[in-house]
Amino acid sequence: VLYNQVQDLKGTIRVYCRVRPFLPGQSNGQSTVDYIGENGNIMVTNPFKQGKDARKMFLFNKVFAPNVSQEQIYVDTQPLVRSVLDGFNVCIFAYGQTGSGKTYTMSGPDLTAEETWGVNYRALRDLFQISNTRGDMIKYEVGVQMIEIYNEQVRDLLVNIRNTAQANGLNVPDASLIPVTSTEDVIELMRIGQKNRAVGATALNERSSRSHSVLTVHVLGRELVTGSILKGCLHLVDLAGSERVDKSEAVGERLKEAQHINRSLSALGDVISALAQKSAHIPYRNSKLTQVLQDSLGGHAKTLMFVHINPEHNAIGETISTLKFAERVS
Ligand code: ADP
Ligand code: MG
Repeated sequence: VLYNQVQDLKGTIRVYCRVRPFLPGQSNGQSTVDYIGENGNIMVTNPFKQGKDARKMFLFNKVFAPNVSQEQIYVDTQPLVRSVLDGFNVCIFAYGQTGSGKTYTMSGPDLTAEETWGVNYRALRDLFQISNTRGDMIKYEVGVQMIEIYNEQVRDLLVNIRNTAQANGLNVPDASLIPVTSTEDVIELMRIGQKNRAVGATALNERSSRSHSVLTVHVLGRELVTGSILKGCLHLVDLAGSERVDKSEAVGERLKEAQHINRSLSALGDVISALAQKSAHIPYRNSKLTQVLQDSLGGHAKTLMFVHINPEHNAIGETISTLKFAERVS
């Protein structure tokens, strides 16, 4: 009974686990996920093992079953998003193997259908709505950056767009910061960003599963009466696929990509678990991603990690390693 309170007190790092449904065509529907509890526990069974070694229980802040809607997901994300308007820095990550639902959670499957929107669009819509209702007291300016990190290199996805938003000291160096005043502005920028992301990639899916994409929302608020300034930022991160690549098969570019991904995801895990343990040394320098996010990880910043589970039998290896990663950072 005390669990939820304990979890809340833990404060700055939260881990949510989302299990995606079977997709049309994945016919047999035999799930490795046996049980999802209200307190955030999840039980998985390895169909290729026997006896009690086959079953494992994990515990997170929340676990979302396959039928949970995009709206319900956002309800549990909203308090963090809104805290950005009060001057907090927030990072929201989507972690999981390719095909487990990261992009579904962060962006959604169909931009033209609002009810399917993911966290990104809902967050921006929410930030604009709340900032408008506070308009009598606080005047907010919002700017966005969009980058991709591929093979430890940062690529600006909004390059060549008019670039006049005021930097608030937390911006990603050398990436365009574009002022926005509405959800429509953001949707337009995200379209451009997606297009730029595809350039040079053989297939968008391929590239997007091997790079991290970071959408950063900067908020600057001026209190009209006192003149005091609030600064907050929200990083929305769709991580590269966490699947391990068979070293005997990958060669050349593919092997290099895989090594960069492995290294940066484990560096992220190291940083978050060091923060969770209140360790004196936080190893930010070990990857580009943690360097870019350094000012928004730790201190008073808040972190939410969505880990994604593909419930199919043949995903069990990655499912277990995803759950272990999540356990380590929680
Ligand atoms: P990833 O970004 O992790 O590679 P995607 O988000 O592209 O995975 O999801 C893979 C497929 O599963 C897509 O077709 C997506 O629409 C579908 N999908 C993922 N999560 C859900 C969900 N919660 N409900 C319905 N379909 C989903
Ligand atoms: Mg994706």
